[in-house]
Amino acid sequence: MKCFFKLKYNRKWKEVYPKTSVFLLSIFLIYFLVLWVNFLRYHSEIRANQSLIQKLEQEELERKEKEQELLLQKQILINNLDLKTDSSLTKFVSSNIHFDDISYIPEDLVNISWDYIYDAKWGYQLLRKEAKDALDKMALDFYRAYEKKLVVVSSYRSYNYQKGIKNRGCPDNLCAKAWYSEHQSWLAIDLWEATTKNQFLSKAYLKDYFEWLNNNAYKYWFHNTYQKWLEVDTYEIEPWHWRYVWVELATYLHENSLTFAEYYNKKNNPKW
Ligand SMILES: [Zn+2]
Repeated sequence: MKCFFKLKYNRKWKEVYPKTSVFLLSIFLIYFLVLWVNFLRYHSEIRANQSLIQKLEQEELERKEKEQELLLQKQILINNLDLKTDSSLTKFVSSNIHFDDISYIPEDLVNISWDYIYDAKWGYQLLRKEAKDALDKMALDFYRAYEKKLVVVSSYRSYNYQKGIKNRGCPDNLCAKAWYSEHQSWLAIDLWEATTKNQFLSKAYLKDYFEWLNNNAYKYWFHNTYQKWLEVDTYEIEPWHWRYVWVELATYLHENSLTFAEYYNKKNNPKW
């Protein structure tokens, strides 16, 4: 029996499994192995992709949370700006709001540097250091854009100086009363010489300059204080008058197309 089976088996082996069958079986095994490896690789890639997606989603969530937090912080800053203290960089004055101290003088005063600024009058204009540094940067970039110097015709004006201007007949819609002028903050400048908006903007080059300032001055933390009208800003439109108002406020006013007076009134009277 045993012998018969062996014989039968040997015969079958020789019939059913010739050399080619062994070869095919090897190919099949290799193919199966490759499939298995690919299967494993595919699943590990899926797992890697899933964890990458989760990581990206988490990062996006964290970025949004951070953005919201920054926005909130900015809003808190904007809501809590000091508009009242004379020495505050965001001190607000208008035709009916004056400085506390009639002869207020800050400590950090410097003369404007004249590298990229031209003074049409005396070659001597004082500003607070922070505003002067910002003005230097703005003047340099203005020069890069036009190869012209910014022309500063006025900066700090004392109570007595402003009084002199008023005594010479400058009307209330154009010149602030002494004690009520932004120029007494040591943070405001007048650029080029003009007395009305039309006169200023009728000159093509000044119109270009104004456009540049309008788009860029906020980056140097300057704001065109009187840009809407008497009823809004309490003075006529003055394209030449720029006031350093510090980074957050300058950006906020620019992004929301608000004037300083509008912001002040909104803050003090939400129904305004
Ligand atoms: Zn001015």
